[in-house]
Amino acid sequence: MSSSVLTVPFNDLHLQYTNLKGELDAVIGDVIASSSFIRGPYVDQFEHDFAVAIGTTECVSCANGTDAIYIAMTSLGVKPGDEVIVPAMSWISTSETVSQTGARPVFCEIDPITYTIDPEHLAKLVTSRTVGIIPVHLYGQPADMDPIMQTADQHGLWVIEDCAQAHLAKYKGKQIGTFGVAATFSFYPGKNLGAMGDAGGIVTSDSALASKMAMFARHGGLTKGDHQIEGINSRMDGLQAAILTVKLKCLQDWTTSRENIAARYDAALQDMTGFSTPLVAEGRQSVWHLYVIRTPNRAELAQHLKSNGIGMAINYPRALPMLPCYADWGHVPADFPVANELAEQCLSIPIFPEMTLEQQDRVVTVLAEWSCR
Ligand SMILES: *Cc1c(COP(=O)(O)O)cnc(C)c1O
Repeated sequence: MSSSVLTVPFNDLHLQYTNLKGELDAVIGDVIASSSFIRGPYVDQFEHDFAVAIGTTECVSCANGTDAIYIAMTSLGVKPGDEVIVPAMSWISTSETVSQTGARPVFCEIDPITYTIDPEHLAKLVTSRTVGIIPVHLYGQPADMDPIMQTADQHGLWVIEDCAQAHLAKYKGKQIGTFGVAATFSFYPGKNLGAMGDAGGIVTSDSALASKMAMFARHGGLTKGDHQIEGINSRMDGLQAAILTVKLKCLQDWTTSRENIAARYDAALQDMTGFSTPLVAEGRQSVWHLYVIRTPNRAELAQHLKSNGIGMAINYPRALPMLPCYADWGHVPADFPVANELAEQCLSIPIFPEMTLEQQDRVVTVLAEWSCR
């Protein structure tokens, strides 16, 4: 490859840092100077600001987005013998946390257009053991919350929204994270709002639930030495909170930038042959955590992108029920045809707020070359 050809990374966290270097370096220095490492004013500030950004009254921060789901379920009383319905396509956190509580994850097929949990299949999976549903707003697009909430209300189930990929996304004009009893977020560095390490949070407008979750995440006590219950140690540290508070102010602009890039991709790519572009359902506003195209010739396209210096990723190569860790359940691909076909065909191309027009055009050119091959 000639050095004059533009390469495009999948994401550019270094550029995100350099754009905010002055402010980030200053707050990192402040946290260290004040030794506000665990809890303290920076964590309080972020919890406040994030709840406001989502439109809830409470935010309970924790160590990562996986713990967030586990903490929320434990605080809702999920126990062995219970069943929790999760989509067949997600990152494993959505299902492994159910098993962690002792309950059983029950996998639900996804919708072929939005790739989020299929409400019709969902309604058929409810049994007398079902206690809750965890819809995932996958790749940044909201799940179909109206019928999901309807099924939940009809059977007295809780809903925890897994918002790890969808900060600020909207469903029918309403922010995701405000539909269920609680909603969980990840601030893993590559997420739409990312820390410089692991971090997570749970939002809710139920203050009793918020205290329960905070207590569980902090060794079962909100006051030192006063352990009301046994909990776990899952805290966001002061450095991550300070970093996230700075970055949160940029989140709306970053989201707009992702939307613009997705719109440019849509226009440039939708008539190309050999792959299809992602669709967003009516009434849903995606925040484009990922731009996922589909092709039956994925290995070939991946190789073409790689040899032309274009970053890519597979999110995710296997539907959850087909992972080796769930082999004992005996699922076969025909049980979840939509999720399995997506797992075989999906390919994520670069999308990040700092992406230049030149980088976007380069991705389009390389895809056009493959399309016309
Ligand atoms: C990233 C992610 C999580 C977990 O977040 P971590 O902070 O990495 O633990 C959970 N669910 C989904 C859908 C994710 O993408």
